[in-house]
This record gives sequence, C-alpha cells and structure tokens, in this order.
Amino acid sequence: MTKTSHSIKDIIVTPIAVGDPPLLNCVGVHAPFALRIILEVITEGGVTGISEIPGNKETEEAILRIKPELIGLDVFQPNHILRTVASTFPDQSDGENRGGAPWDQRIVVHIFSALEVACLDIMGKELNCRVSDLLGGTMREQVPFAAYLFYKFKGAGGQFGYELDSNATGWDKARQAEATSTSGIIDQAVAMCEAFGYKSIKLKGGFFPPDKEVEDTLAIHKAFDGTMPLRYDPNAVWSLETGIKWAKVFKGKLEYLEDPVRGQKNMALLKKEVNIPLATNMCTTSFKDLPGSLQVHSEDIILSDHHFWGGLRSTMELYKICKTFGRGFSMHSNSHLGISMAGMVHIGAALPVFDHEFDTHYPWQNEDVIVGGKLKVEEGCVTLPTGPGLGVEIDRIQLQKLHQNYLDCGLTRRDDEAEMQKLDPNWKIVDTRY
Ligand SMILES: [Mg+2]
Repeated sequence: MTKTSHSIKDIIVTPIAVGDPPLLNCVGVHAPFALRIILEVITEGGVTGISEIPGNKETEEAILRIKPELIGLDVFQPNHILRTVASTFPDQSDGENRGGAPWDQRIVVHIFSALEVACLDIMGKELNCRVSDLLGGTMREQVPFAAYLFYKFKGAGGQFGYELDSNATGWDKARQAEATSTSGIIDQAVAMCEAFGYKSIKLKGGFFPPDKEVEDTLAIHKAFDGTMPLRYDPNAVWSLETGIKWAKVFKGKLEYLEDPVRGQKNMALLKKEVNIPLATNMCTTSFKDLPGSLQVHSEDIILSDHHFWGGLRSTMELYKICKTFGRGFSMHSNSHLGISMAGMVHIGAALPVFDHEFDTHYPWQNEDVIVGGKLKVEEGCVTLPTGPGLGVEIDRIQLQKLHQNYLDCGLTRRDDEAEMQKLDPNWKIVDTRY
C-alpha cells in the first residue's frame, strides 16, 4: 500500500488499572482495580487517534503481535484493517470464544474495535467533524444513560480496597458504602439518581438467591413510586424453572428483564411462558447469533457493546438490524473510563431513534484518563463532546499514573472468581446457580 499522510506510522499500547469498588455479580466480586488498554494510533501525517478497550495481558500481547502488520495501513480504510486482524487470528473468528462469563472474551472484536475507534477519531480530526457525524449524522447532543446499581461490599477499591474514607460525602460516600441489604441498595439508588439525575435504573443481580434479589428490585420500584423504568440482570445464572417463576412476579413492573436464563433457546422458552420484555448481552452477542435470535425470538432488546461487536460502525449496523426486525436497542457496559464513554456517546448521538438509556459503570470510577477529568453526567445524560473526532484527549499525567497502577497491582486479567475466593474459599463460578 502506498504511504500517505493517512498511513499508520505507529501504535502505542498502554495497559492501565483504575480503582474499582468491590461490586458483586454472578461470578464473584470486582478486584480493587479494573484493567483497561489505551490505544494510540499515530499517522504519517502526525495525527493521533485514541481508544480504550477492556484490559488483559492476552489482548495486549495480541495487539503487539499484530502491530507490524498494521503499520502502513490507511486509517480511512478500516475494512482493510479488519481483514488484517481477522486473518492474523483466524481461529478467533466472530462469534467464537465469547466464554460463559458476563463479559466477552473474544480477541478479534476487541482489537478491531480499538483500532476502528482510533481510526474514526483520526478521520474526524482530519475532516474537522465529530465521530457521530461519521456514523451517519448527529441526531442529538444529549445521550441518556441509566443508573447502574450493584450489590457491593464496603470500600471504594483502588489502593484502599475495603477501607472507607470517613470524609467522603454525597455520591462518593454512597459509592463506598456496603450495599447488600434492601435498605443499602435503595440508599445507593437514591444517591446515584440524586447525583446524576438518572431517569431509569438497572440492578445487577445474580449473586444472592432470587427471592432476595427480586424482593429488593420490587423495593426499588416502590421507593421510586413505581414510576422509574427498572431493569434487573441476574446474568443467566437462573434455571429455566427459576426464571419462569420469578419473571411472573416481575410482570408489569420492569422496563426489561435482562438475561434471566442462559442461551437463546431458554430465553425463548421463558418468553413463551411469561410475556415480559427480555434483553440480552449474553445470548445474542455477535452477528453470527442473529439468525438464531430471529428464529426463536430470544430477546426483545439487544444490548450492544462496541468493544464486543467490533466497533462503532458495527454497532450502527446492529442497530439497523434491530430496527428492521422489530427489536429494541441499547448498550451494555463494563467498568470503563472516558474514552469508551465518548465512543458510546457518539453512538447514542447518531442513532436515528433512541430506545433505551445506555448502561454505564462510569460513576463507579472516580478518576479518568482524559483531559479535564470525567465527562459530566447531568440529568442522566452525557453531552456529546464538541471537538473533532471523539472530542476527548489523553491526560498524559493520568495515563502514566494509571499505567503505574497497572504495574503495581499485579493483575493481568479480570478474575472475579479468584477475588471472591479470597473471602470465601468455597466460591466457584457455575453456569446455573439458582
Ligand atoms: Mg447484562
């Protein structure tokens, strides 16, 4: 390929670790640090594009392995870049190796997403337009997100782990507080909604037995006078029988029930028994899964994630398919910082019709890697950045600090099971817990 100013000259990969509270889910508890990888793609013309993806050693090594193949490729030709990534890792093709955990573990989609977002950032800077413009046009300047509640042990994570900062106030205090009881989770919901003005709420479940979690979800429903749209997600650790039993209790009370049971077939069977909106980020997670989804109607709402569906343009393609076949669309989230948030905001800004507030873990992190600190969540919305490209830039001092965290913390991959075993040696990941 002839070298031009748009050719990739260098790619810088920086693994980072950011403080993460001890949030509970079906596979265990979050470690004190969440891992992310920050990618910088630099062109021959001297323009830098940035992106952020979930971190683990394997992904980092895979990017470094493929880097020589990417040097010289044109950032305006992401399809060529995708072909290079896919042909370098042929055994990791779309739809394979997602793994059974609540988060996705496929490498090709992660790497391509990182490259595509950085390329779009560069294109925006070169063309002096926003990424949302490149995704088809900017339909809104405010993108709505949902409050994301977690059962949790006390502590804010990071270097202080389970310790509490007695000077903390407001959301920062609630962010550190233990939330395992009904009143604890309601306090968390109130504090989060007061601080950020969210207009809908999601509770991550799957840790405690269903009777407790369902009771707590209904208590949140009541605490907000039954007017707040509510989602609940036990991450598919319920059997079909358990799912049908509790989905009936939820009828008429939830915006949607997310992944109550495992697999498209079980989701469809539950749906036949209980007419309640179902959402997924677990049973329909790639384009290869879509024929099966349409055949059995496994869910009503697909939760994309641009890190797992292969970037921002793929997410727009998924949106179009959802609309064509009468499915709702929203976005899933894992612990993340402002560059990933910016990517989600650009998608939200470009959607012709906005269905459901996006998920975000963003309030759970109290620092960021972008200039100016965290993007503001106000009235439940994040304002689309005004600058060209993604509209956010890396804070070099923060990047260095969070990279040092990574080197110091000793974590190389997410392992909520191992973290939980430090507290309960008998804890084990199981497909169906209840
Ligand atoms: Mg989910």
